[in-house]
Amino acid sequence: MKKAIIIGAGPAGISASYILTKNNIEVEIFEASPHVGGMSRSFDLWGQTVDLGPHRFFSKEPKVNDFFDEILKDDFTNVARLTRIYYNKRFFDYPLKLFNVFKNLNILTILSILYYYVKQQIRPIKNPASFEGWVTNRFGYKLYSIFFKNYTEKLWGIPGSKIDSDWAAQRIKGLSLVEAIINSIKSDSNNKHKTLVDQFKYPNGGTGSLYNKALEQVISNNGVLHKKEPIVKLIIENNVCKGVITKDGKEHLSDYVISSMPITHLIKGIVDTPQFVLDAADKLYFRNTILVYLEINKEDIFKDNWIYIHSPDVKHGRITNFRNWAPSLNKGKKSSILCMEFWAFDDDIWKEDDAYLAKLAEKEIKQIKLIDADEIIENVSIKRVPKCYPVYEVGYREHLGIIETYLNTINNLMPIGRYGAYKYNNQDHSILMGILAAEKIVHNLDLNLWDINTDTDYQEDGEVKDVLIQ
Ligand SMILES: Cc1cc2nc3c(=O)[nH]c(=O)nc-3n(C[C@H](O)[C@H](O)[C@H](O)COP(=O)(O)OP(=O)(O)OC[C@H]3O[C@@H](n4cnc5c(N)ncnc54)[C@H](O)[C@@H]3O)c2cc1C
Repeated sequence: MKKAIIIGAGPAGISASYILTKNNIEVEIFEASPHVGGMSRSFDLWGQTVDLGPHRFFSKEPKVNDFFDEILKDDFTNVARLTRIYYNKRFFDYPLKLFNVFKNLNILTILSILYYYVKQQIRPIKNPASFEGWVTNRFGYKLYSIFFKNYTEKLWGIPGSKIDSDWAAQRIKGLSLVEAIINSIKSDSNNKHKTLVDQFKYPNGGTGSLYNKALEQVISNNGVLHKKEPIVKLIIENNVCKGVITKDGKEHLSDYVISSMPITHLIKGIVDTPQFVLDAADKLYFRNTILVYLEINKEDIFKDNWIYIHSPDVKHGRITNFRNWAPSLNKGKKSSILCMEFWAFDDDIWKEDDAYLAKLAEKEIKQIKLIDADEIIENVSIKRVPKCYPVYEVGYREHLGIIETYLNTINNLMPIGRYGAYKYNNQDHSILMGILAAEKIVHNLDLNLWDINTDTDYQEDGEVKDVLIQ
């Protein structure tokens, strides 16, 4: 019987383990934290269930949907998506709807959007390398500055001119302003959430229940999970990965290693990695998220699943209302749990203590008037999610390419996942990577796992939907 070691019990690691154990490959999972589900886990808070930040699930890929359906069966809810953008003290429907945009912007701004758009079509930027250049070419600078710039810069912490165009290309693909307008008129006339984009499947037990349930199957198929056992080194002999070493120095041997730990750490865990590869890894970096959960003793705060906060005068970028996801999360409680997302590098507000962050969140939510100034916040809880956004700074591809080329020389080692492969993955991409890594082993396939995400048909019927983060 062949054996695979899986590093990380997030969506990528769990889906790989699920397929492997179903196909009689022995699996041992090593997870650094005490949890299952990675960034996609759910947990109990004040008697309700919440996710580690909001987690919408969507895929067009049959393998991913089969995984979801096989595990959850009918234990999910179809959630009608309702999201808006808060900008300049106004709420814009999202995806954008033409008449709603006209209603919220004054005539001068609309004329200026058109002027900058036409100007850009006459004189486009040649081969734009940055997010700013790419989006400006498509939509003109004015529209970029209203609906893309502030939010994107809050999220990534660097100017739009320094963010690689890959990110835009991956998320917006072939969409033009004309198509966006046609889409927005269509959705205006429908005025309902009918399309696939406007509905998403959500596990009744929270997004993480998908991975807990998949793990039950893995274990019933004799898979083994070790929690709180971080991998610190790999065992490589003659360019073949033979296993891993845990923090206590113990060696664990296997025929294959599938890794979803941060690629930058993985590289450092390989003895003899050439200095130029280590240098390339040092040039890649991640952005962290701080989640501030607030319990408010009220049933109807706002109707959206989440609201994107573009306004530059507050630091948070998104606010979720878990009451508006699946009714099963709320467990009949009268209070609502909101989750505010702040993004930071290792300095900045990442270093602040919980009391500071709680105060900041309370000040900001009252400033944008989502709750009244005299509203009582019953409870506050802070979660820090380190290294959750691989930063696509202009030039990152070159550094990642060096690492990729080097790792391709090591047989039977498969780096997958969001920080595992340094890809801006959603759950579906990580699940797909896990499934394909497993299938590569089971069927001895010649697959390039690095192509997943950038090459998959991710776009949902031409809507500008995920230029904002999930
Ligand atoms: C705030 C937020 C909101 C999001 N919203 C959405 C959404 O709406 N929809 C969506 O589809 N996706 C969303 N995502 C993305 C989604 O969470 C990730 O794409 C997904 O969890 C990635 O899965 P993964 O297995 O690749 O990585 P992870 O989930 O990060 O799992 C990796 C695992 O490896 C473990 N690990 C790390 N180092 C080691 C080590 N040295 N040894 C052993 N184990 C290790 C980690 O503890 C972790 O459990 C969101 C992410 C965030 C942060």
